[in-house]
Amino acid sequence: MTKEKGFTTKLVHAEHQQKPADGAVHIPTDHSVLFTYDNAQDLIDVFQGRSSSHAYARQSSPSIAGLQNTITKLERGHDSLVFSSGMAAITTLMLSLLKADDHVIVSKFVFGNTNSFVSTLQNFGIAVSLVDITDREQITQSIQHNTRLLFCETIANPMTQVVDLTAVGQLCKNNNMLFVVDNTMTPCYLLNATRYPIDILVCSLTKYFGGHANALGGAIIDMGRYDWKQFHNILPAYQKSSPQDWGLTQIKKKGLRDMGACLSADSVHLLSVGSETMALRLDRACNNALEIAKYLNQHDKIKKVYYPGLTAHPQHELTAQQFNSFGAILSFEPVDSIDCVELINAFKLILCSTHLGDNRTLAIPVAQTIYHEMGAENRARLGMSENMIRLSIGIEDFEDLRFDLEQSLNK
Ligand SMILES: *Cc1c(COP(=O)(O)O)cnc(C)c1O
Repeated sequence: MTKEKGFTTKLVHAEHQQKPADGAVHIPTDHSVLFTYDNAQDLIDVFQGRSSSHAYARQSSPSIAGLQNTITKLERGHDSLVFSSGMAAITTLMLSLLKADDHVIVSKFVFGNTNSFVSTLQNFGIAVSLVDITDREQITQSIQHNTRLLFCETIANPMTQVVDLTAVGQLCKNNNMLFVVDNTMTPCYLLNATRYPIDILVCSLTKYFGGHANALGGAIIDMGRYDWKQFHNILPAYQKSSPQDWGLTQIKKKGLRDMGACLSADSVHLLSVGSETMALRLDRACNNALEIAKYLNQHDKIKKVYYPGLTAHPQHELTAQQFNSFGAILSFEPVDSIDCVELINAFKLILCSTHLGDNRTLAIPVAQTIYHEMGAENRARLGMSENMIRLSIGIEDFEDLRFDLEQSLNK
């Protein structure tokens, strides 16, 4: 029996083990849009699903297939698809699986743009219930006869609420709802998704997966647990292969092919190379985040810190059980006499920026930017302070980050 290799070992060998020509360690960046065949029957076989070769790069290419193979292996899933961004993965998933008169349950703590997108879904006759994902009673009460899926994030931002993957997954299973989990905050190195009843993972590769803020990308991973024969909306044309493949086949055809949010070959390469150091980067960033959370938590100019690594966090134990670490996102409120915008302006090292999961530490005033469109009333309903700062902790040396926070708080 061969022993299962460690995460980074698997990752840095993932590309060359797919045997690119001439012993290359990277899969070539394939810019061909079209793929030509000497024998017309070979192209016909691609169209009719008898061959997994490529026809047109909007649906698949050798570069894309390489990254998909790597992601499937790292997540220990059944199969995966990649997209031009995380939002493309989320929108494509919903638009290709749902139809008018369906109902979905979405965590009210999801990424702001996901929240904005599900309000668009309502314009197409798909009803949406937003729930407090940490409140099982509320989830149960919002289930309807036509509820098709539940969508949530592992660790939400900015306020770091954590979902109980076992409990919510079981609820979904009992009610034949797809359990879709956005694991952008806790990609494969931090979460072994096979331990939980998760049906589909969605991930923004732009964040920790790539890590260098040089390429956008997204992925959908089918964990192979869901029985697609039970899904109400798989079109007859996509019920020809093994039922395990029905869901992704429909997402690929109705979503990727028809809507076209495909990942570019250059982005595939940048994301693949970036991912090689995912574990090293995450170890460093998560350690930094824990130390910074502790430092801020004891500081007399800080009113509140949101970070699951702190023992006072309501899901501290759950986070410790579910994930390899507590993540690298934290938010905090300074005391009322300090204005969050002025505090950010005083940072000399930490960058003022949206985005997260970067090598660099980033700060953003939450209410004034990513949650601005939502309005003060809705922010208050979420319990979000107008003076909140979100930090995405990077891999810098901890002392330099602490020094920057200290000098700005002393101003
Ligand atoms: C950033 C993010 C997305 C969207 O990803 P993009 O690649 O920026 O489109 C989705 N979900 C979460 C949790 C994110 O942080």
